[in-house]
Amino acid sequence: MNERRGLVFVISGPSGVGKDALIDRLLAKDPNLRRSVSFTTRHPRANEKDGVDYTFVPRDKFDRLVAGDEMLEHAAYDGNLYGTSRERVNQLRTAGYETILKIDVKGAQQVRRRLPDATFIFLAPPSMAELVRRTAKRHTESAEEQSARAMIAETEMKYASHYDHVVVNDDLDRAVDEVLGIIQKVRAAHLTG
Ligand code: 5GP
Repeated sequence: MNERRGLVFVISGPSGVGKDALIDRLLAKDPNLRRSVSFTTRHPRANEKDGVDYTFVPRDKFDRLVAGDEMLEHAAYDGNLYGTSRERVNQLRTAGYETILKIDVKGAQQVRRRLPDATFIFLAPPSMAELVRRTAKRHTESAEEQSARAMIAETEMKYASHYDHVVVNDDLDRAVDEVLGIIQKVRAAHLTG
């Protein structure tokens, strides 16, 4: 098992910045991209499907996956655990797909150590005020969760400079095009390199 082979794109950014919408559009526009479905101990939201948005697991199952070294990375976020399956990523890469990991800044640091060839993209809001406005608008979290996530966002923003690329989500179509441009450049460099 060689985790260095193939292309992996890590996308991080604070809650509410629009990572899911951006990734949905990337997948629709580029047939060679796939998203690795993460494991989480968080409860599903009303619009989420098990096995599609996440694989939702109880804490003991998550702990067993970590103990069995089945996670490429994992991290706690706002009281819940999230992790990337090593096997899922390997399967996608073996099948020739480029894999997108939508993970938090702590998980990204682990991937940086384990897959140094991955490309790290940070999606940033135009401003913190705009981020708060977007999070309130989506009505998927309680007021308490929203304020916890806003505090985490302040910390996450400090990690932006550790990423290979920072893309500002001022306009979704523009941000999607910018990320696609990055992916195409990395692909081209990989083919010639
Ligand atoms: P949400 O609860 O909004 O779906 O996700 C909360 C945070 O967890 C987001 O920053 C998201 O990117 C991150 N996240 C989702 N899946 C994973 C994962 O597999 N690993 C890590 N480290 N973070 C993840």
